[in-house]
Amino acid sequence: MGGMETNISRRNLIKGGAAFAAAATLLGASACSPRKDAENAPAAKSDLPADLRASDFKYSVVETDPITSFASEETYDIVVVGAGCAGVPAVLTAVEEGATVACLQKEATVAANGNGCSFVVKEASNLSGIARWRSDWAKLSDWRINPALFQYYVDYAEEAVPWVISRGIEEGITPIEFLTDSSIRYDDGSLVAVCDATQESNQSLMVALANRAEQNGAKFYYETPCVQLVQSEDGTVTGAIGKTKDGKYIKLNASKAVILAAGDYMNNDSMVDRNLHDSFMYPRVLENHTGDGHILGILAGGRIAPLGHARQIHSNYIGPFMFFPFLALSLEGKRFCNETVGMSSLNIPMSYTTKPEDAGRHFRLFDSKTEGFYPSSLGIPPVALVGEGSAWMDPEIVVSGNTLEELCENAGIPVDEGVASIKRYNEMCAQGRDDDFGVPGSHLVAMDTPPYYCIKGDVGMSAINAGVMVDDRYRVIDEDSNPIPGLYAAGVDAGNPCGGINWSMPGGFSNSHIFTAGRYTVIHALTGDMKPKNPSGFDDLKEYFAGEDGSYMWESPDCATAISVW
Ligand SMILES: Cc1cc2nc3c(=O)[nH]c(=O)nc-3n(C[C@H](O)[C@H](O)[C@H](O)COP(=O)(O)OP(=O)(O)OC[C@H]3O[C@@H](n4cnc5c(N)ncnc54)[C@H](O)[C@@H]3O)c2cc1C
Repeated sequence: MGGMETNISRRNLIKGGAAFAAAATLLGASACSPRKDAENAPAAKSDLPADLRASDFKYSVVETDPITSFASEETYDIVVVGAGCAGVPAVLTAVEEGATVACLQKEATVAANGNGCSFVVKEASNLSGIARWRSDWAKLSDWRINPALFQYYVDYAEEAVPWVISRGIEEGITPIEFLTDSSIRYDDGSLVAVCDATQESNQSLMVALANRAEQNGAKFYYETPCVQLVQSEDGTVTGAIGKTKDGKYIKLNASKAVILAAGDYMNNDSMVDRNLHDSFMYPRVLENHTGDGHILGILAGGRIAPLGHARQIHSNYIGPFMFFPFLALSLEGKRFCNETVGMSSLNIPMSYTTKPEDAGRHFRLFDSKTEGFYPSSLGIPPVALVGEGSAWMDPEIVVSGNTLEELCENAGIPVDEGVASIKRYNEMCAQGRDDDFGVPGSHLVAMDTPPYYCIKGDVGMSAINAGVMVDDRYRVIDEDSNPIPGLYAAGVDAGNPCGGINWSMPGGFSNSHIFTAGRYTVIHALTGDMKPKNPSGFDDLKEYFAGEDGSYMWESPDCATAISVW
């Protein structure tokens, strides 16, 4: 997984504004005068499904009172709810497949996050390699990962992710990094070939793809959240209702399917309190992610994924820094964890020892050693990765000092407590064993070479990766596990691929299953099959992924032999 991107930067807001202003052509959209619709009859609030509470609606825009009067009505093949990492690929796919499509979007522009994505090259892998790799990840979540959704990623991300990347390149957005280092050759000859790509920002990528879709006939309704689905008496979902800024309702009929792609529910305190009771410990990275897609899906007869709802944890230090086990101190200047814990689980030890009001803040320390350091994934010491121009570290969050006292002073660590903790840590390094937290001697690196550095660390919840239950085609399923006709979900509001407490999945899996489900729900809804009209694949990008010598890591004797947990 890659690093942090803010949700809607000013630059992206401007781009999004331009997208909104761009002329859109309506393909086959039929505008109608207001009318009443007897088929739209959602459950009354007193009659809520077991997976919902009345308090959920305090935070969500979804409405339960039947909406029967519309300012306009239009008909499309596909209606997408949400213009993020799943919704935008869904819209662009519909356009490429020759379908008519409209998207209801809550915000004034596209709003997407993240930057990493990945896929397996099946032809270069063997079956046992893929199976062993899946098992390695499954073990980390107590075997709770959903094998069908993992297989969906293996089978279709191989086409969908290169398709997203290629369309981005055609729009002038090329990933900043292409790697094959996550490939693994196991001791028994099992092999999995994995490609990772990192975008500068998914936000700008999705804005570009949305512009492309709009120029080719897709219709985006910004600042028009979906507040209700339309369902016929037999349960088929036949459309979605958006609410405009001035409070008018527009009805979008979907002749093939509605795709829910409305993101997670981290800002719906009622849902969070029910499903992630410990999340008060660390900040939520996003705003306005209120579980609308979950609620719409449940009201249509779906059910929420059983616990656990895996939370994705990001720190503000990324890339190789995620793998350094450097000294960690709390705001009080005390050591609080075994520093080999990965970024994705740092919230757990923090929840035992730090205070809720610390809100994920902590310190990570290292010195200026250039030898004898714990090697980074790039094979260079941390000191070489800080400073102006570093791709991995925002200079504003790093401070330095020529003495331990000066470092603590500059970083805002209580000096007496901080210096005592560092000295105690150095004693553990000197004896080559850690009496306090059990860090292996090989991973202990003393703070003894000035100048010393401190990262003012932050850790927060960037996504809750669990949504409404779906089948192996991402159709929303009901209590009896039957698909609800006309309704798919894609993105973090779909299914429960991980099932663990924290998200421990292959790097980029989240964005990739999101892109993939966005694209393939539409293909499945339109064709009943999983074959895109204009397929892409690894071959389109193989030059980008090749190393300097033209080869890939899965061919190299240096290929990794085990997964790296970050
Ligand atoms: C800072 C950060 C970094 C991340 N980095 C990575 C990474 O590197 N790799 C990775 O794999 N994953 C990463 N993730 C996790 C995840 O992949 C992203 O959050 C991703 O954007 C989720 O995609 P999505 O389409 O499911 O939801 P979103 O991208 O959040 O899109 C949902 C959209 O629906 C809209 N919406 C919500 N409600 C409604 C409604 N009622 N009607 C209409 N529209 C609505 C929202 O405005 C939003 O635009 C990161 C997450 C964050 C926050």
